[in-house]
Amino acid sequence: MRILITNDDGIHAPGLAVLERIAHKLTDDVIVVAPETDQSGVAHSMSLNDPLRLREVSPERYAVRGTPTDCVIMGVRHILNARPDLILSGVNRGANVAEDVTYSGTIAGAMEGTLFGIPSIALSQAFGPTTGRMGILWGCAEAHGAAVVSRILDLGIPPDILVNVNFPDRQPEEVKGVAVTVQGKRDSELMNVEERKDGRGLPYYWLTFARRPFAPGHGTDLEALSQGRISITPLRLDLTDEPTLTRYAAAFG
Ligand code: MN
Repeated sequence: MRILITNDDGIHAPGLAVLERIAHKLTDDVIVVAPETDQSGVAHSMSLNDPLRLREVSPERYAVRGTPTDCVIMGVRHILNARPDLILSGVNRGANVAEDVTYSGTIAGAMEGTLFGIPSIALSQAFGPTTGRMGILWGCAEAHGAAVVSRILDLGIPPDILVNVNFPDRQPEEVKGVAVTVQGKRDSELMNVEERKDGRGLPYYWLTFARRPFAPGHGTDLEALSQGRISITPLRLDLTDEPTLTRYAAAFG
């Protein structure tokens, strides 16, 4: 089995090294194609106005000055020039759940693999207010990742579906099992714009995210992580909403 790995945190990200170790538990044939720099939040974007620079970091490890989507395209169409058997994207620094799904470069790496017709899985490691982004418990994803991926492959991934896996903010032995979940929803009022001043007194802005506690919906990815469970969410690439389509189609005749 040949596995192509990408990531959105960049070629030097600790989560990429974690995913390489997970993949090597499943096969000896692992190719890494990851962005040169942190691409978190770029979603499913591709580079159309800038050239892609490719750098061989070491044998079977490549960095691309581009997005995770660019990396998957470069991996499949240029570096391998063949379809791998599996694409793994991650392990992201931080959960990719609820509204994160459409912003996430990690999930987009798996989306691009799915568009190529290749089974694709996104993996993310949650951190919490006590662990924080620098104290993230990578050991959780590393301990459970290979078994979860194997089980998903045994079950099969249908065409046009990708699988979004999130590991809870827990030590490996404290994980409360696996939950198969739906995409949840946060309180969207929590995104804000913070104004600051540059060296010349001119304003610039940062998007900020306040994450106050709230009750996650039952059966959601958010709930699973809050309960210390590994969350597995199958996602469709087709975003069409059938009930609304039917209603509009009847109204527009
Ligand atoms: Mn990221």
